[in-house]
Amino acid sequence: MKCPTFEQLIDYFDNRLPEAKAADFSAHLTDCASCVETRDWYQQLRLVTASDDTVEAPLWVLKRAVRIFEARPALSRLAKRFGDIIASLVFDSFEGRALAGVRSTETANRQFLYRAEDYSIDLQITQSEPARADLIGQVLRENDPTFESVSGLKLGVARGGKVLFSAVTDEMGEFKVSGVEHGVYDLRVELSNGSITIPDLPVSESNPA
Ligand SMILES: [Zn+2]
Repeated sequence: MKCPTFEQLIDYFDNRLPEAKAADFSAHLTDCASCVETRDWYQQLRLVTASDDTVEAPLWVLKRAVRIFEARPALSRLAKRFGDIIASLVFDSFEGRALAGVRSTETANRQFLYRAEDYSIDLQITQSEPARADLIGQVLRENDPTFESVSGLKLGVARGGKVLFSAVTDEMGEFKVSGVEHGVYDLRVELSNGSITIPDLPVSESNPA
């Protein structure tokens, strides 16, 4: 069942719907976070506006509340559409070096920056044991100074469709995967409403001769 409109939901919460329809709605509400959010919000509103529940909330209060409410689903609709996105490469420290003709004698770390919509993913590849590297990164989201949308995200490092390493971002969106054997990997970050994939990530020698 598709989400009922706001008006229909209000009718339901106020018990103005026929029984069969009300049953549909209550089934829908058992697994729709967005409509449950509306219900919780409306219950709050009623608590605030009607200490005596025989008194209707003044119309202006309801109208203002509807406006506030309408500003929010726009965000969640966007979030729902996020889907599975392939990140694009913005920066590769090796490319810059090759262009500049710099020959480094020291073991440099390779750095990447990827973007997908309003997310960016920083990656640093540092050599650990022979033929292995550590993958250190941070997921960031624009306009989220609290890091709320980037903490606790699951991510997987896969090769040939098989997830070989997994990690979870910390409260700053940072993560580390240790001892990754040299090779080409896909890194996938799970979001609540989709995922971001970094395809063909080269985990290799810092200084390919
Ligand atoms: Zn719904």
